Amino acid sequence: MARGKVYLVGAGPGDPELMTLKAKRLLGLADVVLFDRLLDPRMLEGVKAELIDVGKNAGRHKLTQEGINQLLIEKAEAGNIVVRLKGGDPYLFGRGGEEALALQEKGIPFEVVPGVTSSIAAPELAGIPVTHRGVASSLIIVTGHEEPGKETPLDWAAIAALGGTLVVLMGVSHLEQNVTALIKAGKSPQTPAAMVEKGGWPEQRMISATLAGIVEKAKEARIESPAILVVGEVVLLAKKLGQKKIAILRPAAQQKESADLAESYGFAPIQAPAITLAEKPLPEDLLERLRRAECVAFTSANGVKMALQSPAIGKALSEKMIVAIGPKTALALAKQGLTALVPEEYSSAGMEKMLQGKCRSIIFLRSAQGSLYLSEGLRAAGLFVDDIALYEVVPSGDTRLDELIKRARSVDIFAFTSSSTARYLIERARAMGLEKQLRLALAAGIVAVIGKPTAEELTRLGVEVDVMPDKFTFEAMLAVLQEKTG
Ligand code: SAH
Repeated sequence: MARGKVYLVGAGPGDPELMTLKAKRLLGLADVVLFDRLLDPRMLEGVKAELIDVGKNAGRHKLTQEGINQLLIEKAEAGNIVVRLKGGDPYLFGRGGEEALALQEKGIPFEVVPGVTSSIAAPELAGIPVTHRGVASSLIIVTGHEEPGKETPLDWAAIAALGGTLVVLMGVSHLEQNVTALIKAGKSPQTPAAMVEKGGWPEQRMISATLAGIVEKAKEARIESPAILVVGEVVLLAKKLGQKKIAILRPAAQQKESADLAESYGFAPIQAPAITLAEKPLPEDLLERLRRAECVAFTSANGVKMALQSPAIGKALSEKMIVAIGPKTALALAKQGLTALVPEEYSSAGMEKMLQGKCRSIIFLRSAQGSLYLSEGLRAAGLFVDDIALYEVVPSGDTRLDELIKRARSVDIFAFTSSSTARYLIERARAMGLEKQLRLALAAGIVAVIGKPTAEELTRLGVEVDVMPDKFTFEAMLAVLQEKTG
């Protein structure tokens, strides 16, 4: 039988993309993988090995360290390739060294594979460089949760005197004692401090305060493990360097494009479709109604796509004056070889101005729930207006929306692209029993809308709107957000 071998592999702080290529390759080779409960399940996707959760959660050890060592030895002695996947880097407060020694004592071949450590990555992902020229030229990493009876307790006076940046791992359970000890040892209570929770995870959060204020703030925000405490002037850089998380609520089909755009503006997108579009059967007298109208208006690229599935509609359109509500809708029409007029301003006044004299009767091909804002305005201005619902907007039922609602408090910006995204987000949260939490998160974060009808709906729902662009496109909204948060 081939001899077994153990790889002590660092998995990085949590984002599967922050694993090393070597870690990924070894997971593909492994017969057995021992991992900790906190690892992102995506890391193990497609891994064919026997998977053993040795879940070490502070205070609730599933397996003792001794038990883990023993299991590594047994599995290797049985001839297996064993991957011991550990959070961050295996040799930084990960007890990787102990596991290696246990293997070495038994003469079992092992190899350590470094990983991206959370002690640097978590602050980094929150916008804090642990060193920065002119600000901090040293970094000290300590554990905040010492084992009782340990021979070398932390020398807080020395740590306080050192200056530079202090990173405290396992920082949650003893936060208050540690902060008190640090201040007592001479660290200024005014020193900037931050806690980064779940760095690199989708629900990453950061709170910051002065050292004197951080305990209270962490309690208020209910910061949980895994989190690290960062103390030092570098914390202030997060204001400029931190990436804001933006929740994108539009239908799944538009998610990728919007997420890419949000990334290009420097945001971290969270894809969470709140709505989906369900096609409606076309009315039988559609062609007749189209014939009666002088011009045809589209209010979304989706409407264009659906209408033009019917060749008869395509043909009827080729003889009409066509109006698109915005550049995206016009682009969708252009792709079908149709040229559209686009009003300068998205409003009934803007439409009316553009149509002046050119068209007295107009037919809207649109969504069933879309706001009637435009058609009503035009009707009031004396035009003959007809409305046809091509599709219905329905709740998405997407699990990504549920995930978003659960971690709403970690979201910085909520991007609403239609009144239905607003309605269904809140409805879904209510159904999950999380409406109150969602509303708190909306109040704490930035609420951005693409245009007026969406803003009005949010106001009606009791949510305050913070950002609305002059030009009603997703990109214009991102530009305003960038200006506001940059
Ligand atoms: N070897 C690991 C550290 C293990 S000690 C590493 O190099 O990252 C466990 C502690 O690491 C946690 O209590 C927490 O303080 C910190 N930690 C691990 N992952 C983290 C993350 N994603 N975000 C913030 N802190 C994390």
